[in-house]
Amino acid sequence: MMIPSVRTSFLPFALPDIDDAELNEVSEVLRSGWVTTGPKVRQFEAAFAAAVGAEHAVAVNSCTAAMHLALHAIGLRRGDEVITTPYTFAATAEVIRYFDARPVFVDVDAASLNIRPDLIEAAITPRTRAILPVHIAGLPADLDEIQAIACSHDLPVIEDAAHAFPSRYKGQMIGGLSDFTCFSFYATKTLTTGEGGMLCTNSSRWAEQCRIMALHGISKDAWKRYTAEGSWYYEILAPGYKYNMTDLSAAMGLAQLSKTERMLRRRQEIARCYSLAFADLPALQLPHDRPDCQHSWHLYTLRLNLDRLRISRAMFIEELKQRGIGASVHFIPLHLHPYYRETYSYQPEDFPVAHREYAREISLPIYSRMSDGDIQSVIDAVCDIVSIHRI
Ligand SMILES: *Cc1c(COP(=O)(O)O)cnc(C)c1O
Repeated sequence: MMIPSVRTSFLPFALPDIDDAELNEVSEVLRSGWVTTGPKVRQFEAAFAAAVGAEHAVAVNSCTAAMHLALHAIGLRRGDEVITTPYTFAATAEVIRYFDARPVFVDVDAASLNIRPDLIEAAITPRTRAILPVHIAGLPADLDEIQAIACSHDLPVIEDAAHAFPSRYKGQMIGGLSDFTCFSFYATKTLTTGEGGMLCTNSSRWAEQCRIMALHGISKDAWKRYTAEGSWYYEILAPGYKYNMTDLSAAMGLAQLSKTERMLRRRQEIARCYSLAFADLPALQLPHDRPDCQHSWHLYTLRLNLDRLRISRAMFIEELKQRGIGASVHFIPLHLHPYYRETYSYQPEDFPVAHREYAREISLPIYSRMSDGDIQSVIDAVCDIVSIHRI
């Protein structure tokens, strides 16, 4: 009989992978006397652009900021529509609302939980201005199909790639494949700067415009102004935002970037261990993967087959907690939240797949700092709960 290992400490749902590399990079910045946007940000932008194969990368303080700047760059206005998915985090749709524009949700594919291209086509109206797909969990959305639709309607594609570093779509890194790709370096993401984000584009005009809007709409940044290379003169070209990344964050980002391969390999290993261990449990549906893509494994998303369990999803998470395992749910679809429900009079069944899949989803811990013992304790806990409560 299998005796589940008992954890002596709680395993958090997510933890950043930080060691001396980050400490050294950040202390170098602290000692340098230049702590805000400067040489480290430029270095991080260049290194990140090279890593994802984008012509330009503009470092900002969040993915939310990056998406806001992208929608500003395309000239989104009040009353316009942007097609996106309800199966995502708050940020994806709120940036559309910043313009008094309408997020037009279309349902997701039941297997991948990514936006369904055939439903995008049907949702296009004369007011549609952009398509904003999300690569949920780090598994790329159907970019070929999405871009074909975008192209035939002359619409830009803005990718919410908050989960998608380092993901590949048919061999190519996510980052240089659409008009804009927006990454998140939030604390729980696959590369973290504490808070941070990156806007990638292959258009020099859009990159320059976003760079200016990210720092007050000013035509030169402070670094150039206050060093020997620059001058005191600047011009305000538009009422911009305060979205710049600091050199402190960029230093952390550079250290994280150099660990990309190792961190990815470890997450892939964890995903493999989980999927191998859970493959024979009819109560569980394993996360979707595609052989023609590279999954970043930001999230490991199980779906419970609730007709094969005596307990609810909430109780499953509670039982994991009792065994010392942190778990989460990704995501509560946006149309179920009071703001969107009340503003647009949504019913849960308006996006039936998002609603149904959300109700049985559980995300397990998956991060490079997990030890082999941590992985085993997650597996033991899940198998134990299933064996006790299966029908
Ligand atoms: C984390 C996340 C964001 C927001 O990223 P921030 O850097 O915190 O602004 C956007 N979209 C999705 C899908 C996310 O998970």
